[in-house]
Amino acid sequence: MEQINYADYVEILQSMSLEEIRAVLEVLQKSTDSYIYIMDLDTDTYMITSKMLTRFPFDDVVIKNATPALQKIIYPSDYPKVKEDIRKCAAGEQETHSLEYRWLDGKGRIVWIDCRGTVIKGSGGHRLLIGRVTELGKEAKADNVTGLRREVRFKFDTEEILRDRPETIKYMMRIGIDNFKEINEKEGVEAGDNVLRELADCIVASLDPRVDVYRLMADEFMLVDAAPTSDKDPQAVYEEIKSRVTDTVRRKEYSCFYTISAGVIQGGFIDRDAEEILRLTEFALNEAKRNGRNQMALFDAEVYDGYLKRLAIRRLMRQDINNHFKGFQVFYQPIVSTPEYKLIGAEALLRWNCEQYGSVSPAVFIPILEESGLIIPVGKYVLWQAAQTCKKWRDILPGFHVHVNLSYVQMHKSDLLADVDKCIKEVGIPPESLVLELTESGYIETDTRIMELFKNLKEKNIDLALDDFGTGYSNMRYLKEIEAKTVKIDRSFVVQALQNDHDFSIIKHIIDMVHSLGSAVCMEGIEGEDELDKMMKTKPDMIQGYYFGKPSSAEQFEEKFLNITDSL
Ligand code: C2E
Ligand code: MG
Ligand code: MG
Repeated sequence: MEQINYADYVEILQSMSLEEIRAVLEVLQKSTDSYIYIMDLDTDTYMITSKMLTRFPFDDVVIKNATPALQKIIYPSDYPKVKEDIRKCAAGEQETHSLEYRWLDGKGRIVWIDCRGTVIKGSGGHRLLIGRVTELGKEAKADNVTGLRREVRFKFDTEEILRDRPETIKYMMRIGIDNFKEINEKEGVEAGDNVLRELADCIVASLDPRVDVYRLMADEFMLVDAAPTSDKDPQAVYEEIKSRVTDTVRRKEYSCFYTISAGVIQGGFIDRDAEEILRLTEFALNEAKRNGRNQMALFDAEVYDGYLKRLAIRRLMRQDINNHFKGFQVFYQPIVSTPEYKLIGAEALLRWNCEQYGSVSPAVFIPILEESGLIIPVGKYVLWQAAQTCKKWRDILPGFHVHVNLSYVQMHKSDLLADVDKCIKEVGIPPESLVLELTESGYIETDTRIMELFKNLKEKNIDLALDDFGTGYSNMRYLKEIEAKTVKIDRSFVVQALQNDHDFSIIKHIIDMVHSLGSAVCMEGIEGEDELDKMMKTKPDMIQGYYFGKPSSAEQFEEKFLNITDSL
C-alpha cells in the first residue's frame, strides 16, 4: 500500500485552491454534527459551512472581518482567552487550537462549545486554521437550558482539583428546587425551563466569578468554591441566592412560585472522589428538605453514619427475612388483671439480633421495617408466632389472650383482614383471644377503607386496643370511632403522673372517661411497688410492666408464669 504521511497531505492541500478545500469541507459537513470551519489567519477571514449559519448569527459563510464578527458571538468574559489563543496560532507560536468556551446563539443564549483546529500552510503561503466546533450540550457536557456545564464536566473538573489542589476547596453546595416536579406538572415544561434559567442567573449573580457552577440532573445545581480569593461563607452565599430568587418570584408577580434548599459539604476532601461528593451533598440536600425545605443543611458525618447504619440494618433484616426469619424472635410480656394481679394474657413484642450490631432496639428497627415495607412479611410472622403460642398457652390458661402490635403500613398496604382470618382459622384459636394493638398516630392517617377494616375485624370478633395512649393527640373521638376494647396508657404518661399531682389527676380523669365510653384500661410501664400502689388509685383494669415481668422468650415465659418446663 502506498504510504503518504501528514506532510504530504499538507502539500496536497497547498496545491488546492481555497474554494476546493471549502468544497471538500462542505461535503464532509454532511456527515458530522460538529461545524467545520477554515480561518485564514493572514487575512482574518472566517469560512464556515451553511449548517453553522443556521445555528449561529453569522451574516455569511465567508466572513471578511472575522475578529469583530467573532467578538459578537463569543461570550464576553471568554473572549480574551480565545483572542490570545488565535494570536498564538497566527504568530506561529502554536500549531493547534483547542479550547472549550461559550458562544451566544441567535437568541443570545449561552452555548458551550469545544473548538479545535490545526494550522496548515495553504495556497499562497497563508496560514490556515482548519477545524471544527462541537456543541458540548449535545454531548451532555453542557446544558443549553441554563448555559451551565453539566454533571459530566463537574466530575471531570472535580477529579482534577482533588488530584492537584484539594486543599483549595472551601465548600461544595448542591442546590435543589423544592417543588420543581409540581411546576413541571402544573405549569408545563417550558415554565420549568424558565425557572431553571432564572435560578441559574440568580446563582451566577450571587457568586465570585471564580466559583464554578454546574447543572446536575433535573432541578439541581452544584457550586464548587475552590477559588483562592473568595471569602463568602456558604450560608451567606445561600442567603444571597435565596433573596435573589425571592425578588425574581416577586417581580414576576408570583406567576411561578418556588423555593430552594441546599446541601453543603465543607473541608476534608482529601480522600473523597467526585462520586462520593455527589452522594454526600445529595444527602445534605435531602436533610435540608426533610427539615422542612427552603433552607440549607451542612453535611453532618454523624447523621450520615446513622443513615448508613440504617441502610445496613435494612439490608441485614431483608437477608434474615429471606432466611426463614433468622435473627427475629417474638418475646412475650405478661398482662395481669386488677385487683387480683392474675395473668390474663401477654403482649407479643418483636426482637431482632444480628452478628454485626447485636440486639437492636425495636425503636430503631421497627421504623426501618415500616419505611421499607418489610413490616408486612415480618408482621405476618409475628402474628403466626403469637397465634401458635396463644393456642398452646390456652390449654393451660383457657382465657388467655395475646396482643399483637400492628403497624399502619400493614393496615394500608396489605390485606390484613384476610391474613388475620386465615391465621386464626389455620392455627385454631378463637378470634376473641387475639387483640390487635394500633397506635394513635397510625389511626390519624386513616381513611374510609381503614374504617371498613375496623368494622370487619369487629364483626369477626377480633378486639382492638389503642396503644401508646398519652403520647399523641389522645383524642377521645378516635377511641369512640375505633370502638377499642382496651386503651393502653403509655409509660411516659405514667411517669409524668407519678411525678406531679396535676398529671396524676389528668390521668385519673382520662381513665374515668375511657371507662364511661365502655373501654377497659391497661396501664403500661409499672416498674416498682410504689408505682403500682399509686397508679392503682386511678383504677386501671389491667397492668403490664416490669414489676410483673419483663418481655421474655416463650420458653422463659412458660417457665416463669405457666409452670411448664420442657422435660427432656
Ligand atoms: P409498645 O407496643 O407500647 O410496647 C410496650 C413497650 O414498653 C415494650 O418495649 C416494652 O418492653 C416496654 N415496657 C413494658 N413495661 C415496661 C416497664 O415497666 N418499663 C419500661 N421502661 N418499659 C416497659 P419494646 O419491646 O422495646 O417495644 C417498643 C415498641 O416497638 C412497642 O411499643 C411497639 O410499638 C413496637 N413493636 C414491638 N414489637 C412490634 C411488632 O411486632 N410490630 C409492630 N408493628 N411494632 C412492634
Ligand atoms: Mg403495644
Ligand atoms: Mg404501648
